[in-house]
Amino acid sequence: MPEHPLTIAVDGPSGSGKSSVSKAVARELGLGYLDTGAMYRALTWWVLDEGIDPTDQAKVADASRSLPLEIATDPTGPVTVTVNGTDITEAIRETWISSQVSAVATNLDVRAELRRRQRELIDQLRADRGGVVAEGRDITTVVAPDAEHRILVTASEEARLARRSTELHGTAGAEQIEATRDQISRRDRDDATVSAFFEPAEGVVGLDTSDLSFEQVVQAVLDLVRGEVAPQTPEQSDPSKEDR
Ligand code: C5P
Repeated sequence: MPEHPLTIAVDGPSGSGKSSVSKAVARELGLGYLDTGAMYRALTWWVLDEGIDPTDQAKVADASRSLPLEIATDPTGPVTVTVNGTDITEAIRETWISSQVSAVATNLDVRAELRRRQRELIDQLRADRGGVVAEGRDITTVVAPDAEHRILVTASEEARLARRSTELHGTAGAEQIEATRDQISRRDRDDATVSAFFEPAEGVVGLDTSDLSFEQVVQAVLDLVRGEVAPQTPEQSDPSKEDR
């Protein structure tokens, strides 16, 4: 366990690779891992399973407060997610959830409730495991702005579409890229109405992964955390490399 509790906050748009990178970093450093997107996905599953209209703000906010959620935080295993005892680990990754999650996540009462739960989990992991890598869209700015390390992982839209297309369809051909566009570009546009995750906020380190391999990104985050590279502030970053 690290000498002092450590929170590493990682944000980024869809397909930036932040989830797999955060998990690998947590594993490497022996910390807990919190996938906050899985919490929004789990609530979306619960709302749809209960027959609630995801755009009904009051009912969805109520559902967020009563959500019987359990989420695994051990980075050496799968992020298993159960709601009311039902294992929904696989279901929450399916397209019918991805296509509706933004309607739930742009509900500000929902965000307040999930933020409260996320902070509780972060505190618990700091106490139990010495720290946590927590990733999402608003961790560096809203959930844990006082984290010891704050990183925004970006990549060009082109790179993100290709990565997610390969993940979902096994290839990044023109047809598969088009089929992936709603999952990436439309969802990010909707999500960006409530969180800022395209540009690093003040004090947040921007990491453009467009031309880096997975291993190189993990190494870059580890170097930052271990203090082996001077953090790059937004003013110093190259604007030509920013996410489009
Ligand atoms: O990261 P992932 O793609 O699994 O996130 C699913 C959705 O959860 C996002 O599209 C966004 O609507 C929501 N989300 C959020 N704030 C976070 C994490 C995820 O609004 N911190």
